[in-house]
Amino acid sequence: MNQLIRAIAFAADKHRNQRRKDAEASPYINHPIALANVLANEGGIDDERVLLAAVLHDTIEDTDTSHDELVQWFGAEVARIVAEVTDDKSLPKAERKRLQIEHAAHISHAAQLVKLADKICNLRDILAMPPANWSEERKREYFEWARRVVDGLRGAHAGLEAAFDETYRKGVASGHALA
Ligand code: NDP
Ligand code: ZN
Repeated sequence: MNQLIRAIAFAADKHRNQRRKDAEASPYINHPIALANVLANEGGIDDERVLLAAVLHDTIEDTDTSHDELVQWFGAEVARIVAEVTDDKSLPKAERKRLQIEHAAHISHAAQLVKLADKICNLRDILAMPPANWSEERKREYFEWARRVVDGLRGAHAGLEAAFDETYRKGVASGHALA
């Protein structure tokens, strides 16, 4: 519990000047907290490493946080899970997206759970509070890409996959995705 609170405080500080892409520019920290909430309260996951990695999942990718810093505060295993869900920002965006699809089946089970929760939360955000100025086509591309990533990790967690599929179906119903 204390480590989880430490991770929330750490991520809140690291993301303190960042906002989500929705019209209201919601505080960025809502997103890592939403992942941990989905994992714990929809997935029934109580593995502390997974919940810590969820809270910290965007710190290396989107802030000045280093791998060593995560090792120092949260241990090598949590740092490794975060590294597994971190895109290589030196690569072009299209290549990063292709690699997420390719890697989904080969990352650790803990990293697959974090990735699954990330895709659930991002699709829900697109439904409820989409990035400002995204066209229908762009939303559709995102939904379909997210499904391809999740298809690569099927078998990781039936309940969370069902939550993803339900969110995807809502996207289909509102015209954001193909059946
Ligand atoms: P981005 O990667 O730029 O944005 C999506 C990411 O933004 C999410 O994965 C999420 O990442 C974060 N995010 C922040 N706020 C929200 C929110 N409210 N709802 C959902 N996600 C949010 O976009 P794309 O995934 O579309 O990547 C760019 C790709 O799109 C390029 O490959 C390009 O080819 C294509 N493109 C398509 C266009 C079109 O109109 N069809 C136009 C321009 C580009 P996190 O979990 O890390 O916070
Ligand atoms: Zn994320």
